Amino acid sequence: MREYLKFYIDGQWVNPLERKTSDVINPATEQVSGRISMGSAADADLAVKAARRAFGSWSRSSRKERLELMQAIQAEYDKRQAEIGAAITEEMGAPAALGGGFHVQLGAGHLATAIEILKDFRFEELRGNTLLAKDPIGVCALITPWNWPMNQIAVKVFPALATGCTMILKPPQLAPYSAQIFAEVLHAAGVPKGVFNMIQGAGSVVGTALSGHPEVDMVSFTGSEFAGVEIAKNSATTVKRVCQELGGKSAFIVLDDAAMVANVAGATSGMMVNSGQTCSAGSRLLVPKARMAEAIEAAQKAAAEVTVGDPQGNFVMGPVVSKGQYNEIQRYIQIGIDEGATLVAGGIGRPESLGKGWYVKPTVFANVDNRMRIAREEVFGPVLVIIGYDSIDHAIEIANDSDFGLAGYVNGADPEACNAVARRMRTGWISINGGFDFHAPFGGIKKSGNGREWGEFGFHEYLETKSLLGFVPAPPAA
Ligand code: NAP
Ligand code: MG
Repeated sequence: MREYLKFYIDGQWVNPLERKTSDVINPATEQVSGRISMGSAADADLAVKAARRAFGSWSRSSRKERLELMQAIQAEYDKRQAEIGAAITEEMGAPAALGGGFHVQLGAGHLATAIEILKDFRFEELRGNTLLAKDPIGVCALITPWNWPMNQIAVKVFPALATGCTMILKPPQLAPYSAQIFAEVLHAAGVPKGVFNMIQGAGSVVGTALSGHPEVDMVSFTGSEFAGVEIAKNSATTVKRVCQELGGKSAFIVLDDAAMVANVAGATSGMMVNSGQTCSAGSRLLVPKARMAEAIEAAQKAAAEVTVGDPQGNFVMGPVVSKGQYNEIQRYIQIGIDEGATLVAGGIGRPESLGKGWYVKPTVFANVDNRMRIAREEVFGPVLVIIGYDSIDHAIEIANDSDFGLAGYVNGADPEACNAVARRMRTGWISINGGFDFHAPFGGIKKSGNGREWGEFGFHEYLETKSLLGFVPAPPAA
């Protein structure tokens, strides 16, 4: 049993002002795996005040000081990688190889990238007699989801630190353990007091207190549309910047060529990674209509290879995060059946071998119409829909006919054909034949939000541009 009952405020582990705890459930066993304290608005206020006090000196810290701190964090993070992986497996059910693998590596990757960028990031730029100074925005509230918990924390905390901001992290109730270890990592690395603070608890309480707080300058939020809108509204009266990274229903276009069958198989197994709980998942698979039968066969085969079971065991897919998510996904599978889509893999209920735990069958619907709800709404589970297209123009039309615009995928044998399709997709982030880059800005358009995280663009989220007119540069040293 894990007992994480203290908050990290002003460089110390402190008791909450009011004693209130909540159980954390292991989604594989449905048993209580630990307890956290639930923060109040008063706890949030203490953390904001600490961050405000620390801002004066941290905002003026040198590049060298920030780099030294971030390198110290890197050393501590490396030491705790296995523990962080185990925590992620326990809290949200990622198979051990994934939790201790890609989940942890994403955190390390964002940290290494932020260090690399900070080494020569231009905080000042002289244009004629005007100096453009990039100043840290101030006190930041960072509100994160449970699905890739370490990734989400890393893409916010490291650029905020690197740019001289101070912060309060509000991790998800469903994935509080990895965040706790992350805070221990920062403490061990010697983060100056007040620069980083962490409060566990409910978004509706702690998150609301932070987004409405007059001393918070910016909220960076990743999560659902509903909460993103609540935060934006609640932030409006105190005029803060709100960075929203929301959901998606991203199209995966497979071109009509010799690689089609292999690409459908890859897209299907890719959809099931992390039990489909990925905001940027390619959950609408677009294939040439004339080849739907081949696509179905390839998708069925790939789905059958996705073994499901105990995240401590040797399975491809673990459970989904919670009973609530399980029920929601079941509801969507039923909606797909009722809408008349062809169920070609998976379906309602747990895999037959599993009596408990929030396990979902890797599910594929084919002959889906883009107007169906399973093609328009984010399921956030291992559910793929296959839609047929008549021509490239038709494929692009379907891809762009969505309320969301987070990610996109194009796979095909001819790189130029792929590039042409990718250019016409209206989303923020498109991967061509599996392309991946820690430096590429990540974020969406339309209802997928307005933020751009990762790499250098992630720094700009935490900076304000200040103009110094009539600026006379100091003469070069003799
Ligand atoms: P969520 O319910 O919106 O929760 C995200 C975070 O916001 C949690 O920490 C939550 O606290 C908090 N929160 C909830 N209501 C709030 C409020 N009124 N004010 C302030 N904070 C509030 O999302 P989720 O269910 O955890 O995550 C799934 C969603 O995130 C999906 O839609 C997915 O697509 C999206 N997502 C997007 C990205 C991206 O980069 N675009 C990445 C990952 C996930 P609690 O702990 O109380 O829930
Ligand atoms: Mg939620």
